[in-house]
Amino acid sequence: MDQASNVIYIAGSGRTGSTILDVILGNHPKIVGLGEIHRLSIEPDIRKCGCGTEINNCEFWNPLLKQISNEKKIPFENWWDFFPLTLAKEKKIVKYLPSLLEILLMIGNKKILKIFLKQSLVKKYFEIIENSLFLYDKISKYSDVPYIIDSTKNPVRMKALYLSRPNKIKIILIVRDGRAIVASAKRRIKTPIEVGTTNWVTTNKNLELMLRTISKEKYIVVRYEDLCDDTENIFRKITSFIGIDYDPKMLRPVKGNFHQIPGNPWLHNNDDDVIEIKKDERWKTELTKDELRIFNNIGSSLNKKFGYR
Ligand SMILES: [Zn+2]
Repeated sequence: MDQASNVIYIAGSGRTGSTILDVILGNHPKIVGLGEIHRLSIEPDIRKCGCGTEINNCEFWNPLLKQISNEKKIPFENWWDFFPLTLAKEKKIVKYLPSLLEILLMIGNKKILKIFLKQSLVKKYFEIIENSLFLYDKISKYSDVPYIIDSTKNPVRMKALYLSRPNKIKIILIVRDGRAIVASAKRRIKTPIEVGTTNWVTTNKNLELMLRTISKEKYIVVRYEDLCDDTENIFRKITSFIGIDYDPKMLRPVKGNFHQIPGNPWLHNNDDDVIEIKKDERWKTELTKDELRIFNNIGSSLNKKFGYR
């Protein structure tokens, strides 16, 4: 088997169904789903894996991380200090445009990027990308599976991974009705509709800028609602895009069998043994007329672009 793993990157804004997409695809015999893998190096001694055990003690991650610590000659006790997979301020980089790193990634020219590789933020960022690719290759070899999923969603990470390994990365862009996304943010963390809509539009703009220099055959756009209504067909499309056979068994992942790093409390809170896609359209009754008006002022053109009326 080729040493370098193939990366399936799930991009999109939060609350689009990326977790369930990762879990179902990760249930395919040729794919391992890693979830929001950048969080692996954030307090892995107390942070829980998708299986419910702390990352450092999990049956999947523990032997792998020990192997990596051994190979890199770093102590297992605090491996994450020596092998970071995210910058402490990664979230900030994405929100407050534009840093030199982001501009370079948007331009997407490797020669120009090379000139700035010594600049401290750019250097640090590409070190975590290198660590991430090292980890993916280890997992691919360890699990004897050619494809891994990174569902971090962050557009900066997406583009940096793409520029580092352009021939081995495919991107799934998952979108959902913006009204559902702002309603979810309102419900969960009381985000005002205006703020939620602006965040959603900004994330998608950043994504669009990063995608501009990536050729169209490298990514596919999937709508959350289609994934729920037309599940088999959409997964047939996705597997054919990746270049693997469709396997109907993947649609029924069993809880506790997957080790995605959660970005979403859903992975721990779900009581069902078999995970199924359930369409969530609570926004239809949750948003007031005034809130819908605020959403439409800021977000209706983007929503229409994704095909929502
Ligand atoms: Zn686990």
